[in-house]
Amino acid sequence: MTHSDDAIDRAALWPAYVDEDYVRTLRDYVARSIAPEADRIDRQDVYPVEILKDLAARGYSTVVLEPDMGGQGLDYRHAAAVFEEVAVASAAVGVSLITVYQAQTMIRSFACDSLKRRYLPAFAQGLLTSYALTEAAHGSDIRRLDTKARLEGGQWVIQGEKHFITSGSAAEMFVILAETERGVSVFAVPRDAAGVSIYEGPNSATFGLRNGPHMNVVFDGVRLPADHLVGEEGKGVRQAATVLNHSRTLAGAISLGIARAAFEGALSFARDRVAFDQRVLQFQGIQWYFADMLTEIDAARLLVYRAAGALGSKDQIARWGSEAKLKASMVATAVATQAAQICGAYGIMENAPFGRYLRDAKAYEIAGGSNEILKNTIGKSLMPLAGATPAGKA
Ligand SMILES: Cc1cc2nc3c(=O)[nH]c(=O)nc-3n(C[C@H](O)[C@H](O)[C@H](O)COP(=O)(O)OP(=O)(O)OC[C@H]3O[C@@H](n4cnc5c(N)ncnc54)[C@H](O)[C@@H]3O)c2cc1C
Repeated sequence: MTHSDDAIDRAALWPAYVDEDYVRTLRDYVARSIAPEADRIDRQDVYPVEILKDLAARGYSTVVLEPDMGGQGLDYRHAAAVFEEVAVASAAVGVSLITVYQAQTMIRSFACDSLKRRYLPAFAQGLLTSYALTEAAHGSDIRRLDTKARLEGGQWVIQGEKHFITSGSAAEMFVILAETERGVSVFAVPRDAAGVSIYEGPNSATFGLRNGPHMNVVFDGVRLPADHLVGEEGKGVRQAATVLNHSRTLAGAISLGIARAAFEGALSFARDRVAFDQRVLQFQGIQWYFADMLTEIDAARLLVYRAAGALGSKDQIARWGSEAKLKASMVATAVATQAAQICGAYGIMENAPFGRYLRDAKAYEIAGGSNEILKNTIGKSLMPLAGATPAGKA
């Protein structure tokens, strides 16, 4: 029993926030092409190369990219719809796609024209990318890094190692943060550059969001042309924050997809399972569980689509994106837990999907900005709204 139960009126349960036709096409595609692969991807912990290439061919990797760069030129609400629907079937495919969007957003927002022309059109052809910030000693705090870059004879030379890199097993290009003389800076590094290698470290396998091992990526004296510095030297943390403001909204959409899948799985079960001469769904106590879950998912959906809308208007994007990811990730974990409970022993079976939902949901309370860091961002956005001056300057 999975989310593919056709008796459920999905269009009414989860109304579209963008054109209904767009969402209907997406739902059909995801049910046909991604859902049948979801368990295998999770169990084998493999990167879904073919699916990612197919998503790109259909324009789902380049929803917001300008048409003159090969993109669809749609708004971020459409991108949110893509991530939500994909993650109903497979959050692992969602995180594979999000690393493509992260690299694309960085290049689109900050790179010079030559780099934009080199890489942006390639996304429509299925370019696979990773976004590499984290190191062994630097996770949430990326203001200092052990990966260093220095200018030598007009070229950048990169030395260091990144950890926990999603999609790292398949990436053809890495967008990385490295420390230069002027501070943290961003670089685009082709996978085939001399000195780039990947390996599976002792911490590469996670229990959730399993889209292939989260790789260690080594840069050993990698030489890059000067234009592979993305944006301004020393402004990397600010640029990374901009990218995260975008990807957090899309991560929220992935969590929504997980929550919806868990909700639907439990709904199917409770509708069909009989106990004490009635359907489990007829017990008022069980209906209250569903009422709570549905209200929470609806609330999270409103936050995610509001945040996606704000990415177009540039209005308070750090706050809305953080609220969206924080709420959606917590809702996904709570709904996955509750859904398993409603399904009794079936909810706990290895061949039921609830374990995957729960593992993926929990992992997304950490990946892409932990809940604590999101709360810091929301709290910080409150300061100017409260009329507060920086600490010590009151
Ligand atoms: C599934 C998965 C995929 C990932 N993919 C990538 C990737 O593709 N690219 C990449 O660069 N990284 C990736 N990461 C790494 C991820 O970004 C980091 O795990 C995350 O930023 C947290 O860093 P950390 O694990 O080092 O925890 P730490 O930063 O060491 O934090 C430990 C704990 O302290 C809390 N904490 C830290 N600072 C504060 C603070 N100021 N206030 C309150 N609490 C705080 C954290 O929330 C956490 O609970 C991935 C992680 C996971 C789990």
